[in-house]
Amino acid sequence: MLAEIDVTVREVGMRDGLQSIATIMPTADKQRWCREEFAAGVREIEVCSFVPPKLLPQFQDAVEVCTYALGLSGLTVVALVPNVKGAERAIAAGVHKMSFPMSVSESHSRSNVRRSVDESVVEFARICELVRSVNPRRRPKVSGGLATAFGCTIEGPVAEDRVVALAEKLAEVGADEVVVADTVGYAAPAAIRRVFRAVIAALGRLPVAAHFHDTRGLGLANVLAAWDVGVRAFDASLGGFGGCPYAPGASGNIATEDLVFMLEGMGLRTGVDLQRLIAVRAANAKALPGETFHGAIAIAGLPKGFVSASRLAS
Ligand code: ZN
Repeated sequence: MLAEIDVTVREVGMRDGLQSIATIMPTADKQRWCREEFAAGVREIEVCSFVPPKLLPQFQDAVEVCTYALGLSGLTVVALVPNVKGAERAIAAGVHKMSFPMSVSESHSRSNVRRSVDESVVEFARICELVRSVNPRRRPKVSGGLATAFGCTIEGPVAEDRVVALAEKLAEVGADEVVVADTVGYAAPAAIRRVFRAVIAALGRLPVAAHFHDTRGLGLANVLAAWDVGVRAFDASLGGFGGCPYAPGASGNIATEDLVFMLEGMGLRTGVDLQRLIAVRAANAKALPGETFHGAIAIAGLPKGFVSASRLAS
């Protein structure tokens, strides 16, 4: 039986990590990754992206991977959707949640998805409308993601009130959750506290999650800052792999195993078995030879006598 948890760790490496590497992971390895990480206790996994396979061949097996993941009872299966067309495919595949990313930075939005920020909000509203037409029993949740919320490689700083205003817009048109993302690893803990506090205050009861990259080494410090102001769900990528296209060689998302290590060490139950999680990472490293994995705990090993909060509780 799974013990109660204090904080939700959400794996996004199968999407955020895989989308930025050249090696195409075989479908069987993606399925193994999903199965084993679920067995390790992770209960929410973003398994793929419904971008056109022509743009990202990594996700040409999106439907197969979703179908497999949906067979793991108790797992929340998430897929990224870039537009209404992607949402139609994700709904047909039967996913539990769709994540739609949009940029807070106008220039990043135009160069990344060739849409203005306002056009992205309209696209998101269309997705929410589409979802409302689905039979309630099969209706996926819709998560609105605000990328480049703490700065942008093209524009530099991003205004904090703009992040809050866009979060409110996403909520207004039908988001079930808002994810605030430091896509390029620009944020420091003080900004994290200010922005998340303001977004949480603006959205009331709507869940607010955090998505941090460790590009400049502040990923876990930012998790702690976000935790302090009330964030209870964090995205992470096993092995922190994926990198950053704007900073070659830099690390990608915060590493799932390091995140779990920190939270469990603080006495917060994640429900995740750290040893098993580290074993999944090792299997992934074998499946992706030549790709760089990041993160500290898998290399250094657990401290002698370390007892996780989840283990104490069970
Ligand atoms: Zn990311």
